[in-house]
Amino acid sequence: MATPRSVSKVVVVGGGIFGVSSAVHLARLGVQTVLVNDGPLAKGASGRSLAWLNSARKRSAEYHRLRMIGIDRYRTLSARYPDAAWLRFDGGLTWDADDASNEIDDVFAHEKALGYDAQHLSAHAIASVTPGVAASAVTPQGAIFNPGEGWVDLPSLIEILIAEFVERGGQLVTDAGIAAVTVVDGRATGVTTTSGISLAADAVLLATGGDVPRMVADAQQYIADGTPIALLVRTKPVDLPLRAVLNTPRVAIRPTPDGALALDSAWSEEEVVVNSDGTYSVKASTIQGLLDEASKVIEGHPKLELQSHGVGPKPIPGDGEPVFGQLKDIQGYYVAFSHSGATLGLIAGELLAGEIASGIEHPLLANFRPSRF
Ligand SMILES: Cc1cc2nc3c(=O)[nH]c(=O)nc-3n(C[C@H](O)[C@H](O)[C@H](O)COP(=O)(O)OP(=O)(O)OC[C@H]3O[C@@H](n4cnc5c(N)ncnc54)[C@H](O)[C@@H]3O)c2cc1C
Repeated sequence: MATPRSVSKVVVVGGGIFGVSSAVHLARLGVQTVLVNDGPLAKGASGRSLAWLNSARKRSAEYHRLRMIGIDRYRTLSARYPDAAWLRFDGGLTWDADDASNEIDDVFAHEKALGYDAQHLSAHAIASVTPGVAASAVTPQGAIFNPGEGWVDLPSLIEILIAEFVERGGQLVTDAGIAAVTVVDGRATGVTTTSGISLAADAVLLATGGDVPRMVADAQQYIADGTPIALLVRTKPVDLPLRAVLNTPRVAIRPTPDGALALDSAWSEEEVVVNSDGTYSVKASTIQGLLDEASKVIEGHPKLELQSHGVGPKPIPGDGEPVFGQLKDIQGYYVAFSHSGATLGLIAGELLAGEIASGIEHPLLANFRPSRF
């Protein structure tokens, strides 16, 4: 446990959900905070996320607990914005393939044992619980409906949080060029950027998504990295009754604030080509395949058309669990690097801001320290 101290100036690097959420929580605590981002806000994973708010299936007890608290923070936010089109709790519906990989019975028993709200439904029972799903697509093992799950449109949330940050006196620097953390004598002292900005700080939070492992390596620190390149496809608006987030063997689907759908899947992610110059190529057949898979699981099999797609890193630590807190060997150098950053966005920002401001570690983050690598 670090010694309590007071921090007067913090620089947060990264304008995704972790950086923005941490920055606004620091501002709420009265800490002078600068948020620096290389381009516009929400241009990384937060701008192309499925953003399903959940703790479905199996994981460590500590990670489950943190996700549940993360969802609770969204419930509180939802009570403040009851009519928000960008934050919905209409449940999640999951089914698996009809083969040996099907875990529906096992997952249902696990979720019930944890008290995670779950209903095991046969295909024909789904319509009475959640609308718009093609019963014919559901496998014989049935589906799990989790009524407490939801989704958030992260760019909308980021816009709201950043407005509060600025209102509270926080300084926002977008299009700042590529930032690097300066470390002197084992302590983070600030941030410089390729556009010539230089900012001194008592503490720095690195929240640069998939870039975190590479950036801490510049300071001889190691965080195991399992970040894949992911694809998110957005359809044109389409008038459908579907409300739940769907997780199905070939496609995951969630509604969007403008009445369209966001789609992703594991197989389409694997088809993204990483070019030798570091850019990405997505085949038209991959996008069409995802649109077709989505149509198959929606009642009436509507024709879905492409609006846009996003491709790039999906931050995932090497062991799958979140990485939050101060680096072992560098005082004042904090990191936020995790999968499920939508679900964890509010709670991670709150807990990290508290740790940075006070120097006191929060017990909820004890299992997720960068020092474990
Ligand atoms: C396809 C997909 C599906 C997902 N599905 C879900 C889901 O269903 N549920 C869920 O909870 N989570 C989901 N996630 C994960 C979630 O979206 C991410 O964990 C979260 O958005 C990460 O936020 P971040 O702030 O860490 O990073 P980012 O949003 O990537 O933000 C990092 C920012 O840092 C900036 N940056 C990077 N390097 C530098 C630098 N050197 N200097 C200055 N700025 C820099 C980038 O431009 C970017 O703006 C999904 C992600 C993807 C991609």
